[in-house]
Amino acid sequence: MTIGKIIDGKGFAATLRAQVAEGVAAFAEKTARKPGLAVVLVGEDPASSVYVRNKGKMTLAAGMESFEFKLPATIGEEELLDLIEELNADERIDGILCQLPLPKHIDEASVIAAIDPAKDVDGFHVVNAGRLATGQETLVPCTPLGCIMLLKDELGDLGGLEAVVIGRSNIVGKPMAQLLLAENCTVTIAHSRTRDIASVVHRADIVVAAVGRAEMVKGEWIKPGATVIDVGINRVVDTEDGKSRIVGDVATAEALAHVRAITPVPGGVGPMTIAVLLRNTLVAAHARAGLPRPE
Ligand code: NDP
Repeated sequence: MTIGKIIDGKGFAATLRAQVAEGVAAFAEKTARKPGLAVVLVGEDPASSVYVRNKGKMTLAAGMESFEFKLPATIGEEELLDLIEELNADERIDGILCQLPLPKHIDEASVIAAIDPAKDVDGFHVVNAGRLATGQETLVPCTPLGCIMLLKDELGDLGGLEAVVIGRSNIVGKPMAQLLLAENCTVTIAHSRTRDIASVVHRADIVVAAVGRAEMVKGEWIKPGATVIDVGINRVVDTEDGKSRIVGDVATAEALAHVRAITPVPGGVGPMTIAVLLRNTLVAAHARAGLPRPE
């Protein structure tokens, strides 16, 4: 039995961060300033706090300026929108990221809409989503852009391949489908109302799972030789030792007997997300400075 390849997202992300750091140094030389990324965290969700801390560290490591705003969960929507306005106007800041999810009393859509699209390094603003959907150059959501980078690195030209994206969220599934379409794949989006999802997935040369259900995608669903990108991050408790661990949306051990290649969880898509965020900040800085988009 042949075993598929494990895609080294962690290694790819480290290379990408090093490229970004070079781009940052060149940008600073041309403009006499560093690109700046502002991250806003509302409340004390433990997972979000870890993400924000890592983002801050990696922003500094890439040679950029990092601005962190930690706000209490009780903050009002108006106050948050005022902060976003200040960040929009701040010349030192090229990228603004508001860590989701936000507390229930704050409307996420209003907050995303308040971010200047030129500084929307998460790519969630409707202007940037619209540009992506109409094939224009834009700031693309970090996780799906990281997935497409891994796929192109593994497969080269994706043209003509059958791709199935499981999940249709605005932050992963939908932009992922747009990016695959832009690469000339034949794209199907599966979701919770899809009938006979196993046979839909079995058609695919490329499977992207972005569901949030531990090991939902079984090995036998995968067409032999397919490439699988597992976006899911799910915490499960091991029945044997009672310890919790992180697994993806794909039953990786089973899938390895079928795939050409698969991203592991952790160590696959996750590290790419932050690396692409840094890259998007560098891209935004170039656009704001009137410089050509970096390679
Ligand atoms: P959402 O909860 O917003 O979307 C989940 C999608 O999965 C929905 O479209 C839903 O369908 C679909 N779905 C739910 N159950 C099923 C099912 N049984 N069969 C088929 N489809 C189903 O999640 P996100 O897109 O935000 O995130 C998805 C996963 O990716 C999560 O585990 C998240 O933690 C992870 N993630 C990882 C990142 C990373 O950096 N690695 C970044 C972002 C997310 P419907 O629309 O019909 O409800």
